Amino acid sequence: MDGSANDTRLTRRRALQLGLGAAALPALAGTGAFPAAASAPMLGPARPDHYRFRMGGFECTLLSDGAVQLDGPHPIFGQNVSEEEMAKLMAANFLPRSRFEIAFTPLLVNTGSELVLFDTGNGPAGRKRGAGRLLASLKNAGYAADQVDVVVITHCHPDHIGGLLEAALPAFPKARYAIARKEYDFWTGGDAPEGRSRVLVRRNVVPLAEKFTFLEPDDPVVAGIQAIEAFGHTPGHMAFLLESDGEFMLLFADTTNHFVASLQKPDWHVRFDMDKEKAAATRKRILEMAARERWPVTGYHMPFPAVGYIEKTASAYRWVPASYQFSVV
Ligand SMILES: [Zn+2]
Repeated sequence: MDGSANDTRLTRRRALQLGLGAAALPALAGTGAFPAAASAPMLGPARPDHYRFRMGGFECTLLSDGAVQLDGPHPIFGQNVSEEEMAKLMAANFLPRSRFEIAFTPLLVNTGSELVLFDTGNGPAGRKRGAGRLLASLKNAGYAADQVDVVVITHCHPDHIGGLLEAALPAFPKARYAIARKEYDFWTGGDAPEGRSRVLVRRNVVPLAEKFTFLEPDDPVVAGIQAIEAFGHTPGHMAFLLESDGEFMLLFADTTNHFVASLQKPDWHVRFDMDKEKAAATRKRILEMAARERWPVTGYHMPFPAVGYIEKTASAYRWVPASYQFSVV
């Protein structure tokens, strides 16, 4: 859009604010009532790529790995309902009906003694589609990749393990790793479907196996970070509860994949959930816990910076993005 079109739009809006009909516009043109805007170049969209706050004695940094845009949400979301039902839900939430965005937001936690990264983004393969930006965001946030002490993998989908390697070498060269035993065993055993996840597990995860700790539900990862069973999205998908100085935050990874559809309609089936019914049951259990406890939560696919609260509503839940809760002192 060039400058003159923009001027017209502003003039029109201002005229409407003044209670003037569109017919009044020609009369105002050229009167000097609306000075022309300075002609600075359009710079294109800009988005923040990291967001840091304190949680008790922990310092948490949410790091954007980017986002991809797709057709949908239906039928990726709402596989068991009509396209029209999804369109109505999107419209009610001020969202487009036929396009949507999936963001990827790993969390980095400085516990005071260790730097713990949850998930690694899409990695090099994601770069041609607007993702794979974790290492750039990490650098912009003030960290070097070799400072990361522990990499926790919530599950083995490509948008979570794709960034384990960079140029065929470990992207976080000094890190040890943690993952659910059940998740590792599934993807390295005979039952996993052939596909991108399995290929990436072979390429990115298995070569690092000797540096992995294998977690059971409720196991600690480091002091103040505990694994929570969240099976369903994948067989060994894990959430994690962070606790420091009496403050809590729940990281629920891919328990929800869309901030409206997954929360307002937790029973709607999602293509990415390997076990639809189990994933829906887990979704409701985790959302109920977060709503009841009033914990702040971070979800990997929530809109950046992907931290907020879960409000219980008459029919289900609602995403409440965090505002200044972590900033006030
Ligand atoms: Zn994911």
